[in-house]
Amino acid sequence: MNPRPELPDRRARVLVVDDERQNRTLLEAMLAPEGFEVVTAASGEEAIAVVTHQPPDLILLDLMMPGMDGYDVARRVKGNLATRNIPIIMITAHGDRDARMRGLGAGAEDFLGKPVDRAELTVRVKNLLRLKAFGDYYSQYSEALEQEVQQRTADLAERSRRLEEQAGALLRSEERTNYALGGSRMGVWELDAGTQRLTWSDTMATVFGLTPQQAPTDVAGFLALVHADDRQVVGGSVATAVRTGADFEMDFRVLLPDGSTRWLAGRARMMRDADGTPVRLLGVGADVSDRKLLESQLRQSQKMEAVGQLAGGVAHDFNNLLTVIMSYCDLVMNDLHPGDPAHDDLLQVVGAATSAASLTRQLLAFSRNQVLRPTTIDVNELVTGMEKMLGRLMQDSVELVPLLALDIHAVRADHGQLEQVLMNLVVNARDAMPKGGRLTIETSTAELDGSVMKGAPAEVGAYTRLAVSDTGTGMDDATKERLFEPFFTTKAAGKGTGLGLATVYGIVQQSGGFIRVETALGKGTTFSVYLPRFYAPGESAASAAPTIVSASALMRSSAALPRNVSA
Ligand code: ADP
Ligand code: MG
Repeated sequence: MNPRPELPDRRARVLVVDDERQNRTLLEAMLAPEGFEVVTAASGEEAIAVVTHQPPDLILLDLMMPGMDGYDVARRVKGNLATRNIPIIMITAHGDRDARMRGLGAGAEDFLGKPVDRAELTVRVKNLLRLKAFGDYYSQYSEALEQEVQQRTADLAERSRRLEEQAGALLRSEERTNYALGGSRMGVWELDAGTQRLTWSDTMATVFGLTPQQAPTDVAGFLALVHADDRQVVGGSVATAVRTGADFEMDFRVLLPDGSTRWLAGRARMMRDADGTPVRLLGVGADVSDRKLLESQLRQSQKMEAVGQLAGGVAHDFNNLLTVIMSYCDLVMNDLHPGDPAHDDLLQVVGAATSAASLTRQLLAFSRNQVLRPTTIDVNELVTGMEKMLGRLMQDSVELVPLLALDIHAVRADHGQLEQVLMNLVVNARDAMPKGGRLTIETSTAELDGSVMKGAPAEVGAYTRLAVSDTGTGMDDATKERLFEPFFTTKAAGKGTGLGLATVYGIVQQSGGFIRVETALGKGTTFSVYLPRFYAPGESAASAAPTIVSASALMRSSAALPRNVSA
């Protein structure tokens, strides 16, 4: 809208109000030649009627009138919103100051003294009409402005409402994202290509065991959290990704504030703007420790399986050969004259063949090719029965301490083989204490609810635990990882066969149990054998104890492996 008012095109209408006819005629005669349309009223009442039905552009108003006088008319006109803009010129006696003051009070804009001067009249009327035109124009203009302001305010309110709606949707989507990320132990991070500032999602901090406030804000801070052995590679890969814009993808270890190590799978991609300029490196990290653990357990159990088959096959053939050797030794000895010097030599051969046969039996136990004769066993009785024999195996500096729980569950296993398990563990414990120490054989009951087996398939149910502890050398990680492998030994040639624990593993496995190893270098080691509780016919597992959940064969074999448990 153009803020420059134009005077109305039509002729301006002027209302002349006077009770005296000659005055009306005079004024009309003065105005008509100037191009005004003149309307007249002979009284105040008549004037109001004209104003109401045909509003004029200006009023010339006589003051003194019978009935409604000029002041009243002015007040009425100015008191009405629809007519208040109509300018009023009052006609007063010359120099009547009092009348002028009252007229102003009633709302008149201007005055003319009697007798009216024609030139003065036209100038004043024209001026006031121009002013009114301005007034009309600006009130229209401001009305339009007001409308526009209202429209825009409404638009703005609508826009902010929509923004709020979008923000709400964004917030909900962020909540969903965070929930998903947190649940899968994943986090998101961003590295600004310009400022090199690093930003972590809250879930990323959680993966690292940190609060969001403790999250690093640059690459150096992040690398400080990476495992020392992986730090250089990770740092190099991030630098390469930043420099070349190539994707980054690698698994690495991180150190948590509680001292534990977790595996992280990291992935990142350079984000670019429309011109292809790198803007930020966007990455995700996921805690894959559980997967790594299962992978290594699976690898280990596959290796054991393969070695077991190999060893079993060899042992089987070898056992057949030993049978042939011994049979022929028997035949030859029978043919010899008593006192023949070859007799003693042959006895040596038979002795060696017998040792070899016992070795192959161990191998066969490990490879599960041996025939089992499972019976119901009270582990306490088994330990007590072997105590004397085990005591003889010890040097004096080793103290043998049985710690047998009173009411343990019966288990089902091959008696001879279980004896062998205990024997192998005790011999190993003895060997770990060349300078002496304490060897404890402990039995107890274990109700496993799955939570103890962190990161491994849950072994739920009632178990009898047979544990052999020593206060010996303990083991480093490299030994701990391989100790169940057949032929793995750290002992001098001729001292160790590396078959002891492989046999233990095979037997426990076949009996449906599993083994845990806790060890600390220089402090000692505990081997715990868990054997499932045996329920006699009529005895219900559900009524007596939690049901044993049988996991799949794969899970079982990996669960039976030692876990990395620190002592
Ligand atoms: P061997 O006793 O013939 O060496 P095993 O299979 O019985 O074979 O044991 C394998 C290896 O495991 C041992 O050589 C030893 O390094 C380690 N080991 C087993 N038991 C213990 C123990 N109680 N303390 C320390 N190391 C042990
Ligand atoms: Mg051994």
